[in-house]
Amino acid sequence: MTKFEALGLNSSILNAIADLGFETPSEVQEKSIPLLLDDEIDLVALAQTGTGKTAAFGFPLIQKINSDSRTTQGLILSPTRELCLQITNEMQLYSKYVKGLNTVAIYGGASITEQARQIKRGAQIVVATPGRMKDMIGRGIIDITKIDYCILDEADEMLNMGFYEDIKDILSNTPKEKSTWLFSATMPKEVATIAKKFMHNPTEITVGAKNSGVDTVQHEYYLVGGRDRYPALKRLSDANPGIFSVVFCRTKRDTQRVAEKLIEDGYNAGALHGDLSQNQRDLVMNAFRKKQIQMLVATDVAARGIDVDDITHVINYQLPDEIETYTHRSGRTGRAGKSGISMVIITRSELRKIHSIEKKIKQNFISKKIPTGIEICEIQLYHLANRIRTTEINEEINNYLPAIHDVLDGLDRDELIQKIVSVEFTRFFNYYNKTKDLNSAEPDRRERGKGKTDQSFSGNGSVRYFINVGERDGYDWMSLKDFLKDTLHLGKDDLFKVDVKDSFSFFNTEAALKDQILETFTDFKVKGRFVNVEVSDSPEGGRRRKRSDRGPRKNKDNRDRDRSYGKKREGKYSKSGSRRSGSKQGSSSGKRRSKNRDGFF
Ligand code: ADP
Ligand code: MG
Repeated sequence: MTKFEALGLNSSILNAIADLGFETPSEVQEKSIPLLLDDEIDLVALAQTGTGKTAAFGFPLIQKINSDSRTTQGLILSPTRELCLQITNEMQLYSKYVKGLNTVAIYGGASITEQARQIKRGAQIVVATPGRMKDMIGRGIIDITKIDYCILDEADEMLNMGFYEDIKDILSNTPKEKSTWLFSATMPKEVATIAKKFMHNPTEITVGAKNSGVDTVQHEYYLVGGRDRYPALKRLSDANPGIFSVVFCRTKRDTQRVAEKLIEDGYNAGALHGDLSQNQRDLVMNAFRKKQIQMLVATDVAARGIDVDDITHVINYQLPDEIETYTHRSGRTGRAGKSGISMVIITRSELRKIHSIEKKIKQNFISKKIPTGIEICEIQLYHLANRIRTTEINEEINNYLPAIHDVLDGLDRDELIQKIVSVEFTRFFNYYNKTKDLNSAEPDRRERGKGKTDQSFSGNGSVRYFINVGERDGYDWMSLKDFLKDTLHLGKDDLFKVDVKDSFSFFNTEAALKDQILETFTDFKVKGRFVNVEVSDSPEGGRRRKRSDRGPRKNKDNRDRDRSYGKKREGKYSKSGSRRSGSKQGSSSGKRRSKNRDGFF
């Protein structure tokens, strides 16, 4: 008897499980499947993302459905179109040996007639987003008055997205004597309210400790290319409209720069670091406490005293050097019984750090994707609609209403809604319409943590770089190595074969560091001059690439003036783009570049 068989599943499902290659049930499956098969109960199951919740409700649901009847018997509500499709796909795989069982997906942004047609053909299981579901009920296209099972999947996420009213409406169209199964990663107040209001005496199961401090924080990482950190940060913020967060950077300089850039791009952001006066810091902290600032960009030292309770997200713009520091950072959220998310933006070379952190915090990270532009537009749209719905009417506008009615005269309700929503939505849509996917492909999970796996990305173990500084700039191999070591936060063994020529040099690192190095030297300037690093074509570094000397040539005029910039004691090293430190030429070039792509950090 397999472990799945022991849970009470029948042969058609067991066969499908065998095809899927599942060997042992996950904890949430082990706990919920027997309960749900045995009896007609209401269930609240709390388990993090990636723990196999779909099968935990999917297997028992499929087994309990009568596939000889074409009546809709099971309704699964899920927050987004992507999840809807994913669940539908899983359900179809799970039920492939159950003859006559149909699962249909219902979601916005696709033809309603086609979906109506599929429903009409008979769907025992419907997987739906709340918005489209409500719409279809309203039009009488779908009948859920005879369902036996209603599943609320990712309940916390649905409520986050403002679907409370829709869910309430949908549930009011379902029979009283059905079973409701609620699955959620976290248990915020709103989820508890739903459970209390719409469920009868639900059995509660929790996978992993519920309130034991650390477990109230979910850890996520987002793998991006080295140059996409900043645009990734923006997307994470845009995909979480109610975000109230601390964004951690490694240096004061980065902290200041990221904050300035966010402000420039229209976010409610502020910087907190040691170069600010006490007065400035107080101002920033007050604004943060009042939530006038949604993204507080901070260094570790400056953020140490932050005692704000309802921070929703901690974002690690860069990982800290010490693992201990990560624990302090993520502990800023998930306080006072609330749940929180700690996000890490990383490049491939940092994957093994994730592994070390996992060991230390005894919790696994979830690998997540940076939302696509379209996903963000969708989230923003629902958020806006929800905000309109819940906004308190300001009586002060009454005097102006007659005039406003005149302006809007002749628009019907639908048109008016379309226009109101477009005012805000178009801003996001225009920005994200043609943006690229920021996600970097992840190496095979099994290879994570082995350390050297990253090498496969360049085909061999080490990478040779060209850098456009040399003896003329005052370097010998030792001082160049020191400069690189300090700038890149590397150890002395990480850099080798440092070879200094007259006006340029070469050096090597392990391939795993490539992203980090190219990222650091993107738009990197020393006293107004670009210091440019590129991967060298020739393994021995005998010749450089044609474009490689772009930096110094472009800045020829500065050459004599800046001849001595390489000497450490004089160097105030900075990347371009900071309005404070760039030369005139530098900042305008920074601006130009930032327009050309998503951002330039
Ligand atoms: P959740 O809804 O909890 O986030 P999913 O149901 O989406 O998780 O499952 C995550 C992944 O794990 C899916 O790819 C699923 O096919 C797989 N999976 C689920 N259960 C098992 C199992 N018992 N053994 C192996 N893989 C599983
Ligand atoms: Mg799920």
